[in-house]
Amino acid sequence: MSFIKRAAFPVVAGLVLSLQFMAVAGVQAQQPEELSVKDFPGLAAPPVCVDDRGMEVTYKFTTGEGLRGRVVNFAAAMRDPEVTGKPFILLDAPLLAMMTPQFQNLNYYHECAHHELGHLNKLPKEYSKAEKRAIEGEADCQAAKKLGAEIGYRREDMNILYRNLTSIWQQEGRSYDHARARIGGIDSCYRSAPHP
Ligand SMILES: [Zn+2]
Repeated sequence: MSFIKRAAFPVVAGLVLSLQFMAVAGVQAQQPEELSVKDFPGLAAPPVCVDDRGMEVTYKFTTGEGLRGRVVNFAAAMRDPEVTGKPFILLDAPLLAMMTPQFQNLNYYHECAHHELGHLNKLPKEYSKAEKRAIEGEADCQAAKKLGAEIGYRREDMNILYRNLTSIWQQEGRSYDHARARIGGIDSCYRSAPHP
């Protein structure tokens, strides 16, 4: 028994080291880089996105494991390394693919808006709770305007989006007030911009 324990130790240590190496090597070492929208039937093609510094924002399609220990819900706007690096949007592709195209596009445009509006010039921990709420509202607003102006979403598309959002929030146990406030913000921005 003791021999097995000793023999097993180097194997475990080797695994830990290789995982650490993956983390240090960063995004390039991760397989999600190789996945594209074509690998996920049911996923809408994401829009072209450029950040506040004029850098092209790339989309990284993961299968839900996140990158470098970060758990992604549906999508997240990031830079690598943080604050100064290349901008990208991390997507949980299989999860997103189960949602409506309207919801997928809101996620794409919302995360892109964080890049466009320079929200990543500060680290998340540098924002107060109120500031975080404010930038989430700004990203929702910019996204809602583009759903009408760029994709041409009509009222019926927005209603599909709101039903999708509401069902997710219900599963998450969010309050009715949360849903009403966020959908209200999205809808007033949608109406304020050109739309069919
Ligand atoms: Zn956001």
